[in-house]
Amino acid sequence: MLYIGIDDTDAIGGMCTTYLMTEVVRIIEKHGLSVIGYPRLVRLNPSVPWKTRGNAALSIAAGIGSGKKWVCGEYGGVAFSARETGESPSPEIERKIIEDVTALVETRARFEEENTNPGVVFLRKRPDYRFYIRGVREILSKEEVEREIAAMDGIWKGYKNGRGIIGAFCAIAWRPYRCTYEILAYRKEENWGTERRIDEASVKAMDARFRSTFNNYDYENSRIAIAPHSPCPILFGIRATVPDELIDAMRTIKPGEEIERWCIFLTNQATDDHIVKKRIGDCRPGNCVRIRGRVCSEPEVIRGGHVIFRVRDRSGEIDCTIYEPSKEFTIIGRKLATGDVVEVFGAVREIPRTVNVEKLHVVEAKAVRNKQANPQCPVCGKRMKSMGRDAGFVCKRCHVKKGRDEAVWDWIERKSLEGWYEPAVCSRRHLSKPVKLLPNR
Ligand code: ATP
Repeated sequence: MLYIGIDDTDAIGGMCTTYLMTEVVRIIEKHGLSVIGYPRLVRLNPSVPWKTRGNAALSIAAGIGSGKKWVCGEYGGVAFSARETGESPSPEIERKIIEDVTALVETRARFEEENTNPGVVFLRKRPDYRFYIRGVREILSKEEVEREIAAMDGIWKGYKNGRGIIGAFCAIAWRPYRCTYEILAYRKEENWGTERRIDEASVKAMDARFRSTFNNYDYENSRIAIAPHSPCPILFGIRATVPDELIDAMRTIKPGEEIERWCIFLTNQATDDHIVKKRIGDCRPGNCVRIRGRVCSEPEVIRGGHVIFRVRDRSGEIDCTIYEPSKEFTIIGRKLATGDVVEVFGAVREIPRTVNVEKLHVVEAKAVRNKQANPQCPVCGKRMKSMGRDAGFVCKRCHVKKGRDEAVWDWIERKSLEGWYEPAVCSRRHLSKPVKLLPNR
């Protein structure tokens, strides 16, 4: 088998590595080979400082196909298929494919963009899965990846600073132990950069009808979530836990223009693969973590409407921040109280040190007490006076004193707050597993 990985060919101003991958499919077919399995769209470490957007990398396998065959895309009205298994191509065909894919990257990548550092990698077997795990959770160096590719007798080409080979290599290393699917529909080149006119009602209808799909429509902000806002070739993308409904779901959308091509990708999106369970004391900047502890400060709303609360476990304490774009999410944050047990998922930021919350599990919301009245004097029966905050009560007439806890308290049950919460659809991270997909919520 020939494995091809590509990364970092696009720029804010246009192009998209997934689109280049559909061109790679054409090259594979032109040379009489098959795409083996689905093309793969792999999201890597979301905290990488040099990513432009969603840190996506792509990989595909090419071979002499056998076994099950299924349609996984279409260009210019012609369907293309993927095969279940494949044998290695001849060295001659392999060489031609490598030449063509390299030429494709060289002609179509956005070299002019400062932050675009394309990389393409060719391997005859998949690298160790641990490289993917590190790629999605840590920072890898180009030199380490180059050494590894060389040791595997692979071929690579890194352009400009060459960093793209890191993503390209890690995308080949991924195995779909946890996975979802995304169908991407592309625009005709003449429409790139123009406004998309997708019919909103058709997106809602698709969302209601196809239960395996997710993150389609942001009901909180009344916004379509399937379409990007960049000038890239993608018209829209629909995500699902299984591939079965994706083609029908795509056909339900009224796109407002012709779909020039489409392709189904196997992805690591919505898997939480970037998240590592940690003790608070072990959290380092750049980590994406799942921590569990007790809320140890009352939530504070800071400028901009963001909500900060502090969480403590036996190893330490850390601030957690819920950002304002997620309005309903910030409301939940404001309802937390000292003593609540929570699990927080998110990325650890360096300055100020805080966890940017991307999912919140309120495990235990403690009942809180609310003072209804001051206590009565046991001698004269009159209501006692407060001696100040936390200072207890005194009877002005009999001089009897009582502690603060002896006031008449009302207990407010907060059990209904227990549960899972996440930002609105449009503010979610590609890798974050939506609450809808959690098994035991
Ligand atoms: P997209 O726009 O396609 O969603 P992006 O533009 O945000 O993705 P890329 O263009 O893929 O991101 O750029 C990310 C760069 O970071 C690539 O060069 C990639 O090789 C590199 N990279 C990805 N993961 C890591 C990592 N874990 N360690 C070091 N470098 C990484």
